Amino acid sequence: MRKDRITGKKISILGMARSGVSCAILLQRMGAEVFVSDVKKRELLSPQINQLENSDIEFETGGHTSQVIQNKDFLVVSPGIPSDIPILIQAENLGIPRFSEIEVAYWLTDSKIVGITGSNGKTTTVTLLGEILKEDKREFQVGGNIGIPFSGIVEKVSPEGIILLELSSFQLEWIEEFRPYIASVLNITPDHLDRHPDMKSYVEAKLRIQENQTEDDFAVLNADDEGSLKFATSGKSKKVFFSTKTETEPGAFIREGKLFTRLSGKETEIVEVKEIGIKGPHNLSNACAACAICGILGVSAESLRKTLTSFTGVEHRLEPVATVSGVSFINDSKATNVDSVWYALQSVTPPIILIAGGKDKGGDFTRLRELVHKNVKALILLGEAEEIIKTALGDTTAVYHSDTLEEAVELSYKKASPQDTVLLSPGCASFDMFRDYQHRGQVFKSSVRNLGQKRNATIFI
Ligand code: ADP
Repeated sequence: MRKDRITGKKISILGMARSGVSCAILLQRMGAEVFVSDVKKRELLSPQINQLENSDIEFETGGHTSQVIQNKDFLVVSPGIPSDIPILIQAENLGIPRFSEIEVAYWLTDSKIVGITGSNGKTTTVTLLGEILKEDKREFQVGGNIGIPFSGIVEKVSPEGIILLELSSFQLEWIEEFRPYIASVLNITPDHLDRHPDMKSYVEAKLRIQENQTEDDFAVLNADDEGSLKFATSGKSKKVFFSTKTETEPGAFIREGKLFTRLSGKETEIVEVKEIGIKGPHNLSNACAACAICGILGVSAESLRKTLTSFTGVEHRLEPVATVSGVSFINDSKATNVDSVWYALQSVTPPIILIAGGKDKGGDFTRLRELVHKNVKALILLGEAEEIIKTALGDTTAVYHSDTLEEAVELSYKKASPQDTVLLSPGCASFDMFRDYQHRGQVFKSSVRNLGQKRNATIFI
C-alpha cells in the first residue's frame, strides 16, 4: 500500500473515459488535488462531466491546456492516448512523471493481483477465472480493460482477496511498481499494428507485466505460442506453462482428450475436453491457462470442473445467435483482428458464409487464404477494409459486397443452405460504421432476429 504517493499530491488525468473518471474520483477521495483533461468536446462527455461535477473535480474539455502540467506532481494517462502528443512531451521535458491508471490504483492495494494480457482471449479467460473463483467461494473482484476500471474495485478487496485484471499493452506502458502475483501472457500476435509501430515495441509493452515480479510470483505462459514463450527467459518469476499440444510441467495440458494440471509434482485430472462449455481450439487454450492459474491459487479440481462444463462463453465471442431454417448464425463481433478470424474459421462448422470487414487495423488477411478456400463458401465484405480483404482473399472464394450489416445478414441467408453457418467475424475494428464492437454485435443479432420473423422461418435460439 502506497497511499503516501497520492495524499496531498497535485495530479492531472488525461482522458475522461471510464477509467479516467473512476481514477479521478478515487484519487480525490484519497486526498489528492485532481484535474481532468480531455480533447473531446463538452457535448460528447455529458455523463462523465456529471460525475466529475458531483464530486467537485476540476476539468477541461476540447483540448489539453498548460493547466495539465502546471504545478503537478504526476500525470495519469488513459489507455489510447498517444505517447507523442505535445502535452506529454512537455511533461517529459519538465520531468513530470506519467503513470497509467493501473499503476496508480495498484498503490492502494495489498491484495493478490492476477494480470492477464495477450492479443486474444483476455476477456474470455478473465471472465472464466471469475466464474471459477466464485464457484470456489473466494473473495475476488474482476476489473481492468474488461470495462470495470481497476480504480473502481481496488477498495472492495481485502488483502486476503484476489484482483483479476484484464490488461492491454496500452495499460502496461506506464507502470513503475505494478507487480502481479500471477502474470499470464496468453498469446502474442500482430495486433494493434496501427498504434505500436512494430511488433518489437508491442512485445516490449507487454513484457512490462513481469518486470517487477520476484521469485515469489508466477508467470503463466503459452507453450504453443512463440510470442508468449519469449517471456519465459525474462523476469525473476517462477514459470508455469499451458499447452493443448504437449505435456508441460509445471502447468496445464491435454492428454488423451482430458485436461490435466501438473503442479509441484502433483498431477490432477480436471475435465474431459468434450465436456468443456467454451468451444474451439483457442478456447481450449484459454481453459488450460485458467486451470494453470487456478492451480497456483489452490482452487479445487471440483470447482474447476464444474465451471468449465457450465461456462459457455462471453457475448460477442463466437456467440450462437439463432438457427433460421437450419442456417446457424454466429456472432463473433469481438474478432477485431485476423488471428481471431483464423481461430473462428476452425471453431465453427463449415460450410461458412463469412461476414467480414470494418476499419482496417493493419492485419495480414492473406494468412486466411487456405482456410477461407477450404471452409468459406461465400465472403460478404463491408466497411473501409473491403478492398484490402478483397485483394488478399478475392480469388479464394465467392466475394460479395454489402453496404450495411443488415443487408449482409439478408444476403448471407440467400447464399446459405440448411446446415451452413453464417459467421460474423470481421477481423477489423468497428469504428467506421458502429460505436464499438458491442454495437456491431447487437445490430447483427437484431438483423438475424428480423430476418427470421420477416420470412416466417423456424427460429431456434
Ligand atoms: P480479448 O479480450 O483479448 O480481445 P476475447 O476473449 O474478447 O479476447 O476474444 C476476442 C476474439 O478472439 C473473439 O473473436 C474470440 O473468439 C477470439 N479468441 C478468444 N480466445 C482466443 C485465443 N486464445 N486465441 C485466438 N483467438 C481467441
